[in-house]
Amino acid sequence: MKRFFSLKMRASRNVDGEPHHISGAEKIIQEEDASDFATALIDRALHHAKGQPDFINLKFELLDERGILRLPALAVTTVQTHTPAEGLAQMVEILRGKMGIANAEQIVALFQQCGNMRGAAIVDVDSLARLEPDRQRGVRVTYMDDADSSSKGPTNAKNHFREAIVLGTKVAYAPHLLGELCISDDPDYVTGYIASREIGYCRITCLKEKGSPIGGRIFLFRGNAEDLQETIAFLEKQPVLVTGVPGSSFRQDRWKRLQTELDAMEVDGLRRKLLVQDASADSRVQVGGQELLMLASNNYLGLAGDERLANAASAAAAKWGVGSTGSRLVSGTQREQDCLERELALFKHAEDAVLFNSGYVANLATISTLCGRDDVIFSDELNHASIIDGCRLARSRIVIYRHNDMDDLERKLQAIRPVRGLVVSDAVFSMDGDIVRLPRLLELARHYGLFSMIDEAHATGVIGLGGHGTVSHFGLEEGPDITVGTLSKALGGEGGFVCGRGMLCEYLRNRARGFIFTTAMSPVTAAVARAALRILQESPELPRRLLDNVKVFVDALRENGIQTATQSAIVPIPIGDERQAAQIATELRAHGIFLSAIRYPTVARGQARLRAALMATHTCEDLRNAAQTIAAVIGEQHN
Ligand SMILES: *Cc1c(COP(=O)(O)O)cnc(C)c1O
Repeated sequence: MKRFFSLKMRASRNVDGEPHHISGAEKIIQEEDASDFATALIDRALHHAKGQPDFINLKFELLDERGILRLPALAVTTVQTHTPAEGLAQMVEILRGKMGIANAEQIVALFQQCGNMRGAAIVDVDSLARLEPDRQRGVRVTYMDDADSSSKGPTNAKNHFREAIVLGTKVAYAPHLLGELCISDDPDYVTGYIASREIGYCRITCLKEKGSPIGGRIFLFRGNAEDLQETIAFLEKQPVLVTGVPGSSFRQDRWKRLQTELDAMEVDGLRRKLLVQDASADSRVQVGGQELLMLASNNYLGLAGDERLANAASAAAAKWGVGSTGSRLVSGTQREQDCLERELALFKHAEDAVLFNSGYVANLATISTLCGRDDVIFSDELNHASIIDGCRLARSRIVIYRHNDMDDLERKLQAIRPVRGLVVSDAVFSMDGDIVRLPRLLELARHYGLFSMIDEAHATGVIGLGGHGTVSHFGLEEGPDITVGTLSKALGGEGGFVCGRGMLCEYLRNRARGFIFTTAMSPVTAAVARAALRILQESPELPRRLLDNVKVFVDALRENGIQTATQSAIVPIPIGDERQAAQIATELRAHGIFLSAIRYPTVARGQARLRAALMATHTCEDLRNAAQTIAAVIGEQHN
């Protein structure tokens, strides 16, 4: 007979001697899957957005298979509402109209009282009495899981939607409960639901203001004191597997799933749209007939729209045509790609360089080729997504160290003493504009015999003498083992590269799947990058001009009362509140400034910011005016 276990994880962090909850999860699993799921849950606990845990509790408990109840998932429907008033009115209407509960209005009003409980309130629908034994904590529903989740394998990602359906289903089937009302306590998540056996799982898309911490669960009870004991015992102890949960069953409509997710993003203000521009890239751009000062591009030196690169592209197209015709190892190495690799190596003072089709692919391919299951990768918590994805693809053990904190890195190296692996960091961090503490990082990597890898996407052409990057910035004799760069930012074109020892490049050309199994970059693209490198070398004053502009802009912001600092061309302007940051960016657009608002999950909650990226081609006047406008709009919003 198969053996089933309940597996529970709780992670917490000590704050002033008090444990603070970070994350929790539970599964009902078969014995053979136990270690996989345990690993996935530990992984989830270790890499939670709310921070790193000091304690992780894992609890396994044998269940009696015959005691497990299998329940069909409630059917999901969605009611679109656009304001909290409309959403709450719908909730009352459904309670009264479809579930026949007379006190609907009073029950919904109880949400004002039962926020911030870990568990749920139990409310007598007739007397409105609160019946949960512990008014602080509420009742916690446990011993439940999606019956199909184990067949999909462990994942360390939490799927809130599926977990809510599992919970809503168990509650709907609990004895003496008529159903559940739920408003999420996540300030950014405004969708909630009503669940009951008659109406199913009914999502209501707006039940509170964005940013409001109000939230909670109300279980609707009808019965006597004895009944209540039975209800609570069921909620707290009865193992339940829910079958046919949407998203885990193959029968679900594949298009409907996408539409539901898109709708949810729309409602939460997280659905993103492309802004189409109608003129060549410059420090001013055309969007929808409006001219905007561009403070959000990676075109640091203004090369993307440079005539000399356009001419290089035309000349290369005339000579080579536009396609590379194949993978580099098979048919796609033309003289342009070969020369570009050698010129990049010279520029970076490396023995050799390898091209990839983008910086993203360069990181993915390099990390996953050099590291495998036996490696430990030490990665800065603010590293770029392409580094994170490369680490995942490598299937190595990943150890995240605090942002640019070399003491934390050293502690972790000391504790783990890895046999093989990699230390990897952005050179210039893309959200804060600060520079990696490279000398110490290299020293640590060398001492522990690990590869060192630096991603110079925002450093090449920006920092160091003549834009040569981090090694030059620090005046080091010897650089990292592996330097990744992109041709798409300061160099104005597209493509990625890796440089280092000849042996490294030879190894990547033979092993990296992102090099082998893709068509080489076009000879036109390669020729453009060569021209950009030539311009950079002939005009070493360009990066200087860029950093002078940064100083003008930062000083002007300070004069207008906005404190900020940077070491590169990225200037973070702290705002804090997510909605405010988005509103300020929209308002700035109306004032002719193109600037992006960066929000959770790209940065931590409550640390939303505007992110300005400067260009060598901005004029001082542009920047002083922009600083003034930005300060004025922020001032208005705060009042
Ligand atoms: C932009 C960026 C990349 C990706 O480079 P692409 O050439 O745009 O794919 C990689 N790493 C960092 C740090 C970046 O900022």
